[in-house]
Amino acid sequence: MAQLDRRTFLAGAAVVAFDPATSRWLTSLPENTTGAVRIPHLDGELVTDEVALAEAATDYGNLAHNLPRAVLRPGSVDDVVTVVRFANEHGLTVAVRGQGHSAFGQAQADGGVVIDSRTLATIHEITPDHAVVDAGVQWLDLVRTALGVGVAPPVSTDYLGLSVGGTLSVGGIGGASQHHGLLVDNTLELQVVTGDGRLLTCSDTEERELFEAVLGGLGQFAVIVRATVRLETAPTSARVYTLTYPEVTDLTAAQRTALADGRFDYLEGQFVPTDDDGFVFVLEAGSWFTTEEPDDDALLAGLAPSGVDVVDMPYFDWLNRIYETVEQIEALRLPSPWLNLLVPDAATDEIVTELLTTLTPADAGGVALLYPTDRTLVTRPQVRVPEGPVFFLLALLRAVSPPDDAEAARLLADNDALYARVRAVGGTQYPVNALHLTTADWRAHYGERWPLVRQAKDRYDPRRVLTPGQGIFG
Ligand SMILES: Cc1cc2nc3c(=O)[nH]c(=O)nc-3n(C[C@H](O)[C@H](O)[C@H](O)COP(=O)(O)OP(=O)(O)OC[C@H]3O[C@@H](n4cnc5c(N)ncnc54)[C@H](O)[C@@H]3O)c2cc1C
Repeated sequence: MAQLDRRTFLAGAAVVAFDPATSRWLTSLPENTTGAVRIPHLDGELVTDEVALAEAATDYGNLAHNLPRAVLRPGSVDDVVTVVRFANEHGLTVAVRGQGHSAFGQAQADGGVVIDSRTLATIHEITPDHAVVDAGVQWLDLVRTALGVGVAPPVSTDYLGLSVGGTLSVGGIGGASQHHGLLVDNTLELQVVTGDGRLLTCSDTEERELFEAVLGGLGQFAVIVRATVRLETAPTSARVYTLTYPEVTDLTAAQRTALADGRFDYLEGQFVPTDDDGFVFVLEAGSWFTTEEPDDDALLAGLAPSGVDVVDMPYFDWLNRIYETVEQIEALRLPSPWLNLLVPDAATDEIVTELLTTLTPADAGGVALLYPTDRTLVTRPQVRVPEGPVFFLLALLRAVSPPDDAEAARLLADNDALYARVRAVGGTQYPVNALHLTTADWRAHYGERWPLVRQAKDRYDPRRVLTPGQGIFG
């Protein structure tokens, strides 16, 4: 999705006042109006035009469309503070929309205000070991700029067109998480606007409770406006191994072997459709280098694939490998009921073998992801992962093509059933999904942490202003 510049947002009619009696935003304040409240000064703009509202009611999933009444394109952090305080005073809800790659309305605010973070997108600082960026920065821009001076984040999501704020609100998992944890585990400091409108800085040593609430906090406690994220020296090249297996349990066995000794820098896996409407199972691995090439024999020892493909490419090209494909798919606006589950290692073979008795490539949206990671590196408490040293991400990146409401409803029901099945064996959801979730489901999701989640909500967002689209507090 394109970056918004100031010229683009001048196109909308700016709001100047709010009428609490009718909950209407006004673009002019007639002299005889009683009761309308003038909006405090904004460096950016608050708009109510149809195009802006419709965009804010759309996301990657194309399944939920909740219209806000206004969209803020902030020109500064102060604008976020102003609008969040205004929302508190007038009983409004607020949600931030980063790149809108949620699947089921998580970044929407029915009748409320959506903050479009694309206008807060400055990279403030890049050093050898960290970057300071606005929440609306896309990882693609950070990675490109950082690689220009030889550094990069230790872990990246598969797709870089996500905002920093949106990703840190859910976790940020990728093939390097086996060595470095999630993006939230590599976040050093945040600047946030709490749900009650306080601008605060938090980290492991300052306002720690807030820091831990916000990282992976699904936008419930504060708006992230700026983040300091870890960087490290980057390689120049990636050697990418594509190893094929006929059975899914051959894939998981090879992945466990590779995870155990950490031989690859990157480790993922996929179900790839075959011509006969089935799947082959692919271990996708990467080894990074700058001068000394990886030792193929050592890296492939004991993995016993039925097919091997090895390709070298620039490290940036690898990190950015799916950007254009995602943009093309997104342009089709297909209903996309995604499901990402985290399955305990001990139950993974049973769950995926059972799933594959009915799953078709069409049900999986073409490609499904399956890969393990090291649970001990996932340290932020809001990210709910299964017990045990290892869990697998199972991701069905579903898309309904051509669009069909009945088929979308069938896949949504299937998501609910598969989530229930995975929960029954101690699994969790990676919360970016199209799932029908009740408050009871969320309580179960957070488990023993639920009282702390509620306490943090009471402390930082007592009027329940922030991020209603997650549906956590009803
Ligand atoms: C094609 C694609 C590939 C993906 N690949 C990966 C992957 O490899 N790994 C992975 O972990 N995830 C992946 N995801 C999921 C992705 O990380 C989440 O959907 C993420 O939330 C998207 O970021 P966004 O900027 O689009 O967030 P949005 O959809 O805009 O927002 C997500 C949630 O965060 C809230 N939010 C957004 N910005 C802020 C902020 N500044 N402060 C507080 N709350 C905020 C929103 O209100 C919403 O509730 C992928 C998604 C897609 C569509």
